[in-house]
Amino acid sequence: MNASANDTQFARARQSIPGGVNSPVRAFGSVGGTPRFMVSAQGAYVTDVEGHRYADLVNSWGPAILGHAHPAVVAAVQEAAARGLSFGASTPGETELAELVRGRVNNHGREGLGSGGPGGVGLGGGVRSDGAVGLPKETRNPVEKIRLVSTGTEATMTAIRLARGFTGRELLIKFAGHYHGHSDALLAEAGSGLATLAMPGSAGVTAATAAQTLVLPYNDLDAVRLAFEEHGHNVAAIIVEAAAANMGVVAPARGFNRALSQIAHEFGALLIIDEVLTGFRVGPAGWWGLESSLVVPDGGGWEPDLITYGKVIGGGLPLAALGGRADVMDFLAPLGPVYQAGTLSGNPVAVAAGIATLRAADRSVYDRLDATADTIASEVSAALSTEGVEHVVQRAGNLFSFAFTAEPPRTYDQVRAQQAFRYPPFFHAMLDAGVSLPPSVFEAWFVSAAHNGESLGQIVAALPAAAKAAAA
Ligand code: PLP
Repeated sequence: MNASANDTQFARARQSIPGGVNSPVRAFGSVGGTPRFMVSAQGAYVTDVEGHRYADLVNSWGPAILGHAHPAVVAAVQEAAARGLSFGASTPGETELAELVRGRVNNHGREGLGSGGPGGVGLGGGVRSDGAVGLPKETRNPVEKIRLVSTGTEATMTAIRLARGFTGRELLIKFAGHYHGHSDALLAEAGSGLATLAMPGSAGVTAATAAQTLVLPYNDLDAVRLAFEEHGHNVAAIIVEAAAANMGVVAPARGFNRALSQIAHEFGALLIIDEVLTGFRVGPAGWWGLESSLVVPDGGGWEPDLITYGKVIGGGLPLAALGGRADVMDFLAPLGPVYQAGTLSGNPVAVAAGIATLRAADRSVYDRLDATADTIASEVSAALSTEGVEHVVQRAGNLFSFAFTAEPPRTYDQVRAQQAFRYPPFFHAMLDAGVSLPPSVFEAWFVSAAHNGESLGQIVAALPAAAKAAAA
């Protein structure tokens, strides 16, 4: 075993690639040390160039819900690749995936998934008084039409262009700490890598572009109402992570998303729910499915106009999507005046991976994800408590993270006020013990259905030393 292979790889990468990485958080900037260069991934594990195997709680930042290299997904990819890598023309698979997504979301993910209700972990109570789950009858399918693109960034970028084209308005409202990819309009006070690097925005975004995005504190409806009172006539859309998970996990306050939908619609603006991270991960129909099932429909359901997807929908290959109201979606070219296109959009190999992943992700997969998240979250919390480390567990369905603070943060400011310095030693103690965590306190932990007794045992065994390191 070559003990310095990761260092060698990193040094070599830095000669040719800025910072040695193709996405900033991979550089280990906020935790220090040498990033691991991975060569293979199977089930619950990833293996680096030195041959070290890590129980993986990054899972490619979300896509790998079934675990790495799931046989059904690999077989579908191989079969599709053998038929051709890209045609630059429509394929039957694209329609099949579109129908699959529409069906799952319309049925709250219950279609073909058995009789179990939504997991709803971390959402609290509030099941309808008649005990039913599902939307009030009059509520339309939130994904009437869907367009496939290649990345989550493209999906949200296109969604805001579409909202502007449809409404004829310019302003966009987003929330501090929410990350929607790296298009210019969406980089202001964004989470994920910008939070990790403590960057308020990005150089290269013009002042004029930045001025068209109003950034509000999350979970603060008064701020939203005030912004609409001042600018409502010119707001094209609100964009919101369905449940925030790029500043660590911060679930929306109960009723927050529904109130956003009501306020936006009162002022003729659209609501874009970003499910790139949560979609098909926290439940069969994403966060929207979980939350819509649980909200007491005293005033009807809540209706996003557009929803963006990524990560899980591509099963580990570059695929993302935006979907929503048919009248809004039909504003896209070739029917409408809003342009969007892509050489590799709806790539047949990526589509095959997406279909295979969604087909394999049945109710039992989501039950496993919930149970695994429960186990890991409570074991980490217990280990930290044993060492007297002040922390809270932040949950949104099967997504979770830990904030080193006394009170659960609900805004980006509160997230940033935590004792973030406790995370790097915790992270490295886990890594040394063969557990790969997100290399930033401002990221969610991702479980997969492949975690089993062996990998969970390895994670739990690593915790006492890591908690001690965090306490120091
Ligand atoms: N939206 C959310 C909520 C995300 O978490 C991400 C990526 O992490 C994106 C959009 C951007 O997706 P991509 O990295 O595929 O461009």
